[in-house]
Amino acid sequence: MIKLSHISKSFGRNQVLKSIDLTVNKGEVVVILGPSGSGKTTLLRCLNYLEKPSGGEIAIGDFKLNCKQATKKEIHTLRQKSAMVFQQYNLFRHKTALENVMEGLVIVKKLPREEARERSAALLEKVGLADKLDAYPSQLSGGQQQRVGIARALALEPEVILFDEPTSALDPELVGEVLEVIRKIANEGITMIVVTHEISFAQDVANHAVFMDGGIIVEEGPPAELIYHPREERTRQFLKRIT
Ligand code: ATP
Repeated sequence: MIKLSHISKSFGRNQVLKSIDLTVNKGEVVVILGPSGSGKTTLLRCLNYLEKPSGGEIAIGDFKLNCKQATKKEIHTLRQKSAMVFQQYNLFRHKTALENVMEGLVIVKKLPREEARERSAALLEKVGLADKLDAYPSQLSGGQQQRVGIARALALEPEVILFDEPTSALDPELVGEVLEVIRKIANEGITMIVVTHEISFAQDVANHAVFMDGGIIVEEGPPAELIYHPREERTRQFLKRIT
């Protein structure tokens, strides 16, 4: 289980996260919806310390970290427990698809190259890229690059995968193939937090939906309930705009 308690984050005088509490059960897929600037990306980045939270506590399983006094070692441990899939893929441009996936296994997990290569090839096959192992990112479509990003995250065997608007940089016709891969791995019981504007995906795949606005969680609940019967006016207004 992942438990965020009182997570806050300020950039200068701009308080972007205001004491966020969120619990994600093992194997659950949580979607975070909300308008631009509401703090969704910052929350994901705080969870794996790409941004240092200003305060609060992060617990993943038995591991707990107090953001005000986290040691380097604790931060390192936290980072190993999550993997991020970025909006802009963030692949190494000068490495092939296979090398991009292998990187974390060799550098972080310290696997022998041969084993890393085998595992990476299997993961690329899983995301439908068995024939693209030796392709460089520039030779791949956006959807294919994002699937490499997903394989790279899976390779680390994290306790949770954090998806930051994984399809928002894609041409519309490529969105489906990426959502299909996310759906497939969700069905395998991998814990995920997904920031997305894809409402039908949220409804089909998520177990739990969260609506953020202005740095707070305005409401949360089962996706169909939140999407079709939001309790809060702010949620209603947002959904009206995007559906
Ligand atoms: P979007 O849907 O547009 O990605 P979001 O809900 O993910 O939006 P964030 O990217 O988390 O929102 O941004 C929340 C607020 O924090 C914004 O006002 C943004 O300008 C601010 N912010 C984010 N990162 C930084 C930073 N590194 N330095 C200063 N301000 C930042």
